[in-house]
Amino acid sequence: AEERIVCPNMLADVVRLQAARFPDRAALHFEGETRTFAELDAESNRAAQAFVALGLKPGDRIGWLARNLGIFWPAFFGAMKAGMVMTPLNWRLAPPEVAAILQDSGARLLVGERAFLAALETVEGYSPPRVLGLEEEEGGFQSVLDAQSPDEPDYRAREEDVIVQLYTSGTTGLPKGVLLTNRNYHAVGAAGLERGVFVPQTDDEAMLHALPHFHVAGVNVGVLAMGRAMPVVQHRQFDPAAIVREAQGGRPLDAFFVPAMILMILEAAKAAGARLDAFRTVGYGAAPMPEPLLDAALKAFANARFWQFYGMTETCGGASLLDPEDHAPGLARRVSAGRPLPGCEIKVVDPETRRPAPAGAMGEIVLRADFVMAGYWNRPDATAEMMRDGWCATGDAGRFDEDGYLYVLDRIKDMIISGGENIYPAEIENLLSAHPAVLEAAVIGQPDEKWGETVKAIIVRRPGATLTEEDVIAFLKPKLARFKLPKTVTFAEALPRNPSGKILKTVLRRM
Ligand code: ATP
Ligand code: MG
Repeated sequence: AEERIVCPNMLADVVRLQAARFPDRAALHFEGETRTFAELDAESNRAAQAFVALGLKPGDRIGWLARNLGIFWPAFFGAMKAGMVMTPLNWRLAPPEVAAILQDSGARLLVGERAFLAALETVEGYSPPRVLGLEEEEGGFQSVLDAQSPDEPDYRAREEDVIVQLYTSGTTGLPKGVLLTNRNYHAVGAAGLERGVFVPQTDDEAMLHALPHFHVAGVNVGVLAMGRAMPVVQHRQFDPAAIVREAQGGRPLDAFFVPAMILMILEAAKAAGARLDAFRTVGYGAAPMPEPLLDAALKAFANARFWQFYGMTETCGGASLLDPEDHAPGLARRVSAGRPLPGCEIKVVDPETRRPAPAGAMGEIVLRADFVMAGYWNRPDATAEMMRDGWCATGDAGRFDEDGYLYVLDRIKDMIISGGENIYPAEIENLLSAHPAVLEAAVIGQPDEKWGETVKAIIVRRPGATLTEEDVIAFLKPKLARFKLPKTVTFAEALPRNPSGKILKTVLRRM
């Protein structure tokens, strides 16, 4: 499998190189259609020619508003081949939110699914740029693309080219446009390879892809698979039952999931009485993984090697990795985020003074690496706040252990300060999720006259389970310091999440 791997300086060369070496190998399966690497290469050239024919110039943004369709990949590489910047948009947002992001991006062309485009037309005061639908037989994106030659466009890519503008998940505020370059992708790809991540064990492994294309992991997983000449099995959107069915197909699979997806897949597998033995590699990350869920996942994905990724949009998804060996039962570090990627320096600093925290102490995680973004689009203020003296401030709280393993505890913004004590919600959430009657839990701070803030827990019970506020407190009391005990416990049907599966604490605090 090793000789199938490429990690070029220019991301579009992934497709060119694999097409030259393995023209007839499947690159992409999507709802019954298959594209070989040669076809993907030719189609991405047509897409590049189409963008040029539509009058776009290098550096222009292309808004992309669609679920995970197969056509995304040729369009994505095509944009790069012509020097344009693909900007995949979060279609789950409300139309005015999408309009605001489109406006921010300055996109000169918008390609999307008809229903999403139609919804945008209802946004008052918003006039979209030129729009092309993905469904139309005539006048749509596909027809423009089909009319082009499959020749390479005459644009010469540079390492510093911004190739994609991805918006952050908007967990802590409004999404920000992150500028990622060829150099960023090369750096994160090379670092992951050096650690051996997702290197297929067999020739027939495929990458199941059910992450949204507008999320950094959604882009990464696709390019990572193609760089390993592994076919992408593209799902239009995440459906746990469809994933369980896919796993019964007899083909070995790799995948990356966020913890919320894993929870749903395990439930779906249980409901169907189906096994998940087909998975060979499971990557996870993008949000804290509760240990009980990790245990359940390790058991259910019985044949899989597990990798945890810690990173963010601003770092092209990279920062640290927890290797399969470190997931062994009994190891304390199995709940850490692992060790920094090669070429990535990570420090833990005092969030106020930005001086290094004492060894083993908690602080803000800051990092330096070639995969750190070129900046936020149109946001010099936010870029300056994030990047100080060449170090990128993650906004995450963490600490290192003696062996150099990084523990990501929570977001600094979510930290609760009660009577002068710092409380990290993730610690309490982790304990709560180990209770058999708890499906999931979130912990936030609530204003309190005496203590400044106190702890509030919001719990979703497992279907059919009974659980009272008293039960919860009795369960936590022996495990937690007094000041960390929730003062209020409420129960909810579901937790508000964004499309990346992250709990929206801003929404919970408002409720
Ligand atoms: P916004 O920046 O708009 O508030 P966001 O930070 O959720 O949104 P992303 O860039 O998608 O947007 O997510 C990065 C964040 O996800 C990290 O800063 C961290 O808080 C969290 N995260 C990522 N990986 C892990 C992990 N392995 N364990 C715990 N948290 C993680
Ligand atoms: Mg963030």
